[in-house]
Amino acid sequence: MQSVSVRAHGSSANLGPGFDCFAIALDAVYDEVTVSLADTNEIEINVIGDNVPEDPRKNVAGVVAMEFSRNHGITTGLKIRIAKGIKPGYGLGSSGASSAATAFALSVLFGKNLDRPALVELASAGELASAGVAHRDNVAASLFGGFSMWIEGPPKRVINIPPPDDLYLAVAMPLIEIPTMKTMYARSVLPQSVDFEKHVRNTANASEIVVGFMLRDARILGEGMRDEIVEPVRSKFIPGYASVRRAAFSAGALGFTISGAGPSLLAVCDQRQVAVSVLKEMKSAFDSEGISSDGFVSRVGSGCSVIH
Ligand code: ADP
Repeated sequence: MQSVSVRAHGSSANLGPGFDCFAIALDAVYDEVTVSLADTNEIEINVIGDNVPEDPRKNVAGVVAMEFSRNHGITTGLKIRIAKGIKPGYGLGSSGASSAATAFALSVLFGKNLDRPALVELASAGELASAGVAHRDNVAASLFGGFSMWIEGPPKRVINIPPPDDLYLAVAMPLIEIPTMKTMYARSVLPQSVDFEKHVRNTANASEIVVGFMLRDARILGEGMRDEIVEPVRSKFIPGYASVRRAAFSAGALGFTISGAGPSLLAVCDQRQVAVSVLKEMKSAFDSEGISSDGFVSRVGSGCSVIH
């Protein structure tokens, strides 16, 4: 085998109270990464689509490939072609999807058959390089799909639950360039200590999300998407957050939260038609604040798959 192409979906991490642990894969957006053996001993990256670095030390795919080569004593050069379908910097797990696809493709190409925690660890090496933090929640959802929980352990493990059939997501992306929303900054504003009462309520809400997925009930999981610890701080950096939230609930959303570190906002619905109206209302709420936005309706996505 000389070449493997893998599709990896974007993801929404946290879902409110599941900070750094929960994520869902987003079916509507994905990257496709092709890893091929090269004649040289270099790692060469070619990006189609969004403007992300092609320097292998700066592109997460290059970082993952270097880590893999180091771990497995591989000296062969690699050509990595990335077709970007997920806009970077919007909290949609763009770098996580490229990292996941590259890790998965390398494991297949070299017949390593890495297990799930090993794939997460390898992919998160890319995240560590791009964001300064190893986002295991994003890469776990992109790798394995569905609703995904990264459990630090020990032992480290990933639990995935398939989504309810009637779960639809409306994702609105405000087209704002806020350097402060970069993941590193978004983390620097996190509270240093947590009020005990808030912790108790967040634990109950996070449990409701898990129960909602297990009972395949979009209403229950939507109700759990309320975070009293991180979201109140991060939402201040998203202009229009409060009015977009109101608009989503008035149009029939069952839950609402920031996608990852933002600025994208995510609403949970139980019918496609409702999700379409919710997205329309979220976008017009951004419009009323003078902010243009993009967006999409999505199902929960599957994990990485080899496409050829
Ligand atoms: P997201 O919000 O989509 O998770 P991040 O803000 O965490 O994205 O990461 C985006 C950063 O990672 C950008 O600075 C981008 O240049 C860098 N990056 C490096 N490689 C990639 C890649 N293959 N795909 C997307 N972003 C990448």
